[in-house]
Parts: sequence; structure tokens; C-alpha cells
Amino acid sequence: MNITVIGTGYVGLVSGVCFAELGNRVICVDKDPEKIDVLNSGGIPIYEPGLKELAVANRKSGKLSFTTDLPGAVRRSDIIILAVGTPPLANGEANLAYIDQAALEIAEAMNGYKIVAVKSTVPVGTNERIAALIRSRTSLRFDSISLPEFLREGSAIQDTMHPDRIIIGADCSSAAETMALLHKPLTEQIVITDIRSAEMIKYASNAFLATKISFINEIANICEKVGADVTQVAEGMGYDKRIGPSFLKAGIGYGGSCFPKDTHALIQIAGHVDYEFKLLRSVVEVNQDQRFNVIRKLESIFDGEMRGKTVAVWGLAFKPNTDDVRDSPALEIIRHLVDNGVKVKAYDPIAMANFQTLFGKEGVAWCDNAMDTAQGADALCLLTEWDEFSGMDLGQLQTVMKRPILIDGRNVFKEENLLGTDFVYYSVGRPSLN
Ligand code: NAD
Repeated sequence: MNITVIGTGYVGLVSGVCFAELGNRVICVDKDPEKIDVLNSGGIPIYEPGLKELAVANRKSGKLSFTTDLPGAVRRSDIIILAVGTPPLANGEANLAYIDQAALEIAEAMNGYKIVAVKSTVPVGTNERIAALIRSRTSLRFDSISLPEFLREGSAIQDTMHPDRIIIGADCSSAAETMALLHKPLTEQIVITDIRSAEMIKYASNAFLATKISFINEIANICEKVGADVTQVAEGMGYDKRIGPSFLKAGIGYGGSCFPKDTHALIQIAGHVDYEFKLLRSVVEVNQDQRFNVIRKLESIFDGEMRGKTVAVWGLAFKPNTDDVRDSPALEIIRHLVDNGVKVKAYDPIAMANFQTLFGKEGVAWCDNAMDTAQGADALCLLTEWDEFSGMDLGQLQTVMKRPILIDGRNVFKEENLLGTDFVYYSVGRPSLN
């Protein structure tokens, strides 16, 4: 099939590359000429394991190309997939300006029948609104498809090539069949539904996963007070097939470009129809507070005297294997420390540059590796569970620190790792050690 994907971010680029890998002819469009230049010179503007190799190979075989020329791409394609950003507005609603603009550009470029599929996460009713926008600019025929995306950054290729399910929201059965055919090589689990339900499936799925995270984090907070171990509790819960083991890892809460934005947006969507989503409001509140567990632990360790202390931070990305720092808990934790006179030293294997762009370069000592970061620190906080941190030599680590205090915000270390060291160790929902 001839496909144009508009937006070459984390979703659009991965989708475009994977559709090309399946044998389709794919044009990836972005309005950012720098991104397109990087892609056309064999680079990748984001960090995603396995993506570069696949992009380079498919570009070389001629199945994949990159351009800023949206009209040209639309004219050469039968299926147009929208994967532009829908970042949050100040009130929590999704900003649909990029979607609207792209829809108008598609309408103006159309030269015949097209399927217009929206992969971006958009509020219920948006596909209908986009269809109306396109219809206002062209009398050519097209069909709208809601095609919500469920990939996770860090394992995006695997998730795209082996999805749990594909959701196709359509009001035209032949367009739905075409989209089902496109996705058939990926999975048998294709759900064809109406457009509004498809839009809602995406928000409901993310809200449910966020709920699981906030739930286990609250259980962890109680575990700390009653002397139970949340990892044992989660394991015991997870064997129950009705519960399942995934998304029961206690930590400092979820971040990233999806869960925070999509939970807020769903609260707004419900509010617009006079429904107060009380459960989801609590999920958001719990998540917002959870990151401050790290701060509260530091305050208690230092008897409230944080000013002038040196705190090392390992991990800035919102999760490992990505350079995405949007809504990363590290942003707020480090901001709070810096504002309270703490000397912060920070390191992330991949996400440092993106973090500096959002946070600013001032006020933090940026380090080149994990050991240097810990040098001379009064405490070390692990905020992202990159593999390299769990493999660190704790014996050596304690010798370079001023005080061997480790706050593990992701429960990376096990008790046996700490045995024989002088570390005072705090994690989330597990008894502290030493
Ligand atoms: P992103 O910000 O990484 O990328 C969006 C891209 O769209 C940017 O490169 C931008 O330049 C481009 N763009 C914007 N307007 C354009 C236009 N008119 N023409 C051409 N290009 C344009 O966003 P993302 O993280 O890939 O997310 C995209 C959508 O997918 C969002 O709605 C998001 O909620 C959803 N989603 C994201 C993920 C994820 O893990 N990132 C997962 C599932 C769904």
C-alpha cells in the first residue's frame, strides 16, 4: 500500500518504518526540516532501540522516504496516517492545533479518494471534527479511521511489530477492511469498532494503566508504614489472573508524554459531559505526590537541613531506554532540590541533552558517568532504572561518596546487593536497610 505518515516523532517514525518493513511504500512527513535532514542523512532524531537500523535498511531499499513536502506525499498516497503531537494545554485538555493544521493541509493537497487515519491520541469526537474540517475544504471522497496507538517508548519496534491488539474505529466497512488488511501481518487480534469507541479505548487503556501504578504506589506507601515488602505483595497479587503481574511496580510514579497528558485529558473529556471522574482525579493526585517521596526521605535523613548538601541523581528520562524527558518526575524532583539550596549532580546515559533543554543548564552539575556523579555526594537518588545502574559496583560506590546513602526510587537493588556494604538504603514500599 502507499502510505503517508504525518509527524515523525516517537509514534510516526516508528510506525512509518514498521509499515515499510512490512513491504509498503511509506513517505514520512514532518514540518521540522532539521528532523527530515537528520533522517535523510541516515540518522535518527530520537533514541529508540533498533529503530535506526530498520530505518536505514528500508530507506536504502526505496520503500521509505522522508520529506517536508506534505502535499506531494499526500498526492502519492492512498492512506494518510496522522501522528502529530497532541500536547496538553494549561487546563489539561489536548491541544488539537497540530492535528487541525495537518488536516487542512491534507484537504488542500487531496487529488482523489484517501483514507485519513488518526494515530494521535485525540478526545472523543475529534475524528468527526477532523472529517468536517477536511470536508469544508474539498469535495473529494475520503474515509476517516481512528487508529489509536499503544506502543511504549523503549520497546516501540517490538510493540509495533507484535501488538497485543489493533483497534480500528470506522464508519465505513470497506475502509476498515483496508486498514485491517494493512495490519494483518502484525496480529490476528484486530478489533473493528465505531470511531468514538476507538477514541475512548485509547484513553480508557492509559487511564487504567495509570490507575494500576497509582494503586501499587499507595500500597507501597502503606507497606513502608506496616513493615511489609511491596515487591512481595505485588508478586503475590500478580499470580491472580484477574489482576496480572504487569504495571504493579512501585516507584516514584509515572511520567512521560502519555499517561500524565491522557489522564488529565480524560478528566476534561468527562467534565465536558458533566461527569466527574473521581477515581482518575485521585490517580493523578497520588501520582503527583509520589515523586515527593524521594524529597521527604532526603528531608528526614538530613533532619530538614537540606541546604548546602550534595545530592547525586542517577537517571533523568521518565523511564529507561528512551531519551524522552517530557513530564519526567526527575524534572520536579531536581527543581525542588535546587530551589532549596541543594547542590545537585546529575547523570543520564541518553537523556541528558533533552533534559537540559527542558530544565535549563544552570544550577546542576552535569556529569559524564554514574561514578563521577556520586563522587562526594551526601546522598544518591536513583530515579530511572537504566540497566547500567543496577550493575554498579556498590563497594566502590560507597568509597567515592561522602555519606553512603542510597535512595532507590525504582526498587532496582535487592537486599543481597547491599549486604557487606555500609549503605543506608531506602527504596519504595520495602523496609529500609542499615
Ligand atoms: P512527537 O512530539 O514526538 O512528534 C510529533 C511530530 O509531529 C513532531 O516531529 C512535529 O514536528 C510533527 N508535526 C506537527 N505538526 C505537523 C504538521 N502539520 N505536519 C508535519 N509534521 C507535523 O509526538 P509523539 O510522542 O510521537 O506522539 C504523537 C501522538 O501519538 C500524540 O498524540 C501522542 O499522545 C500519541 N502517542 C504517543 C505515544 C508515545 O509513546 N510517544 C504512544 C502512543 C500514542
